Amino acid sequence: MTDGVTDGATDGASPERVARLRERLVALCALPSPSGDERVIVDALAAELEAWGLEVREDDAAVAVGGAAGNLIAELPGGRPERVVLNAHVDTVPLVPGEPLAPVVDGDVVRTNGRQILGADDKAGVAIVLEVVDVLRTLPAADRPTLVVVCTVGEERGLRGAHALDVAALRADAGFVFDGEVAVGEVIAAAVYKEALTITVRGRRAHAALEPERGVHAIAAAAEVVRAFPMGLQPEGAIANLGSVHGGGASNVVPDEVVLEGEARAFDEPRLLRLLAQVRDGAEAAVAPLGARVDVAHRRLYDGYALADDALPLRWLRAVAPAHGVTVTTVRSIGGSDTNVLNQKGLPTANVGVGMHEIHSVDEWIDVRGLARVAAWMVDALRLR
Ligand SMILES: [Zn+2]
Repeated sequence: MTDGVTDGATDGASPERVARLRERLVALCALPSPSGDERVIVDALAAELEAWGLEVREDDAAVAVGGAAGNLIAELPGGRPERVVLNAHVDTVPLVPGEPLAPVVDGDVVRTNGRQILGADDKAGVAIVLEVVDVLRTLPAADRPTLVVVCTVGEERGLRGAHALDVAALRADAGFVFDGEVAVGEVIAAAVYKEALTITVRGRRAHAALEPERGVHAIAAAAEVVRAFPMGLQPEGAIANLGSVHGGGASNVVPDEVVLEGEARAFDEPRLLRLLAQVRDGAEAAVAPLGARVDVAHRRLYDGYALADDALPLRWLRAVAPAHGVTVTTVRSIGGSDTNVLNQKGLPTANVGVGMHEIHSVDEWIDVRGLARVAAWMVDALRLR
């Protein structure tokens, strides 16, 4: 993907801002916060935001998600009428056991030491939110909207913190999430709906040598289900996958049950429902000739979204982009983020690209100049309203 940003003195990424972003990111990445264990980072952020004079609270999501901390919510009152959510998630994928967190500064790049994750997903987003708030808090209140900082927990375990968040209580007009794996300048304005699939194939158990004719072979039936399954990329950008198979037992038994686990994604709900129907009808037709039965269960993991082209977050981002040498490109994502849940709960929210690379791995890296550009662009987007 292209960078979408031109170099130049107008991009707002001054050396001072780049240095601040680098320092913030390194400090955040040094705090362990795998999903469910976000206590330390939530306390650190609460202390910093309180010291800046924001009103800080933690919601009760810790109970709902079964984690150590809830979502952190902090408010900076402004004189403009709008209330704007700035969001990033504070949790990371699991740490590599026994390896310390040791972010490496390599010029403008912050990367891993190759043995432990970095967690720039999404501490890069947290660093941007802090920078934006730190700049806007120094302006007269009349010149900014009310900022509602929302640091979510449990994102990497199925957007759990966002699911537990009372979005209506935030009374916000627009949301910006800084969790886009895409390049700076790209804004994720649409993302998929996703369902988890559990396909249970049932046959009949029998001794494989003494009376195999009495059995109905669940593994053989499951093989037909897999053959009929719409695996991979489908028309209209829908996607289906089977990720695991469990079943059977002893080698002398005709197995009676196999469970297949998978998922289905699509950009709109009717397409998703058609895909699910295709999975179910295909599975039923596949096992019928063998005398087996199949049950296709599915569960919504999150709704998709598609922002209107004139949605408030997109308008604000575009309004000041040229002054920052940024060409805004809206893209759609085949993955989910807290953006999905915020939109699902009625808050028009865009996911802003921050240029993360090799996320969820020990090869993760990020260029802090990109973070500085996003922060400078965002400050102006909010200030000029
Ligand atoms: Zn993320």
